[in-house]
Amino acid sequence: MARTKEHIAPRVIENPREMRAISEAIRRDGRTIAFVPTMGYLHDGHRALLAEARKRGDVLVMSVFVNPTQFAPTEDLKDYPRDFARDAIMAGEEGVDIIFHPSPEAMYPTGFLTEVRVREMSGVLCGVSRPTHFAGVATVVCKLFNVVRPHIAVFGEKDYQQLQVIRRMVEDLDMDVEIKAWPTVREADGLAMSSRNVYLSAEERTQATALFRALRAAGDCVDSGERNANAILNLVRGVLDEATRGTLDYAELRRLPNLEPAGDRIVGPTLLALAMKFGRARLIDNIVLLRDEPKG
Ligand code: AMP
Repeated sequence: MARTKEHIAPRVIENPREMRAISEAIRRDGRTIAFVPTMGYLHDGHRALLAEARKRGDVLVMSVFVNPTQFAPTEDLKDYPRDFARDAIMAGEEGVDIIFHPSPEAMYPTGFLTEVRVREMSGVLCGVSRPTHFAGVATVVCKLFNVVRPHIAVFGEKDYQQLQVIRRMVEDLDMDVEIKAWPTVREADGLAMSSRNVYLSAEERTQATALFRALRAAGDCVDSGERNANAILNLVRGVLDEATRGTLDYAELRRLPNLEPAGDRIVGPTLLALAMKFGRARLIDNIVLLRDEPKG
């Protein structure tokens, strides 16, 4: 397929010290740094974050790092899809200036002991089946911020729990970086784009469209006045039961921003989040209900 966007190859930096020296020089020049952390295998969701970040800083840095500490030993670290050459082309098309692409050894040298843990928020939703995941995420994002020194970093609402954990960390640890959220980018049939969608068989791919249908059905019924948590969750489970043979990990309502249980009636901004397993793929999706209501 013909490429329509101009492509200028980004500079690739592997060494964290070199990256930090470059960032410090950019800051000394009075220029701003916008940052998008990724695990690579880019899709249009990542592209949207990069396009937003491009507008918000003088220099655009993207990291590509499949962070081992956020994968449990039983998870897909080894199989996680990777294609750095393709990522570099896409990044160039989106105006990325620098790709920070460290090795696991450079990020976690022998003797590494420190962990950043955002307590209660990390043990719910995905944290139940992935108890070490969010400490891995918080620790690596903290390190990436210290190395890249961004003024602003863009994260996707696709991983809403991650977004909230990072916002909490930044506030709690007085980090000098603005966190910008970007809405979930979806395929035409509603499936949230994800690097892990490549794991789906054709049949699972079809069934996976039910995730967003279920979320939308719940959104519609809340728009019509429903506030009863059980009624909302039963509707979600009903749609998923009928349309898929996947295994539901969770479907839950949680209050924003700190992800406490929503209780019997939803009041104020509430996250409706779900995770479902289709074969070896575990897909997550969410919507925010009552986004514009005052906090409950
Ligand atoms: P990942 O490479 O999966 O770690 O994701 C890197 C960033 O892209 C994270 O901030 C994700 O939330 C975001 N992201 C992934 N998929 C999507 C999507 N479909 N829409 C919007 N943002 C996304």
